[in-house]
Amino acid sequence: MNNSTIAIYPGSFDPITLGHLDIITRGSNLFDSVIVAVLSNPTKQPLFTVEKRIAQIKQCTINLPNVEVDSFAGLTVEYAKIKGAKILLRGLRVLSDFEKELQMAHTNKTLSEDIETIFLATAKEYSFLSSSVVKEIAQFGGEISHLVPMDIVNDIYSYYQK
Ligand code: ADP
Repeated sequence: MNNSTIAIYPGSFDPITLGHLDIITRGSNLFDSVIVAVLSNPTKQPLFTVEKRIAQIKQCTINLPNVEVDSFAGLTVEYAKIKGAKILLRGLRVLSDFEKELQMAHTNKTLSEDIETIFLATAKEYSFLSSSVVKEIAQFGGEISHLVPMDIVNDIYSYYQK
């Protein structure tokens, strides 16, 4: 029997930030493997395609051998079951995250009793950081190199220079 603990880290990652990367890195130290799962959400108009986001995350996690990057559509718990994962990994920044995340964790519990959501508290230097903050700054050409992995800084500026 395979007893390895697989954690799914689902999200939009549009784009991946240093806050996300911190959660991925810490998760990779806690679990046998972490699957970063990019949610394909047809109702949202993203900055980057799912394929591009996967490529960006792969590039930023190349030094983490137990991290896999994938995409999914539909219910996270169904995706977790397909992957044989019993853990959903999420990050918590502020009180507003807590409300939303707790509701999501409870909802997922009603859908699948044996899947647990585990929260990691944000590193305090990233508690203000979100993909939206990055987009708000980048659209005006502001500094983002302290907010996102170095590998994707140019991708983001290029998007707004189109
Ligand atoms: P979603 O659209 O599902 O909220 P995000 O890509 O915005 O997707 O976030 C994915 C997960 O990462 C969420 O659990 C979110 O709370 C967490 N997260 C986002 N930014 C940070 C950060 N700066 N520090 C810690 N966790 C974060």
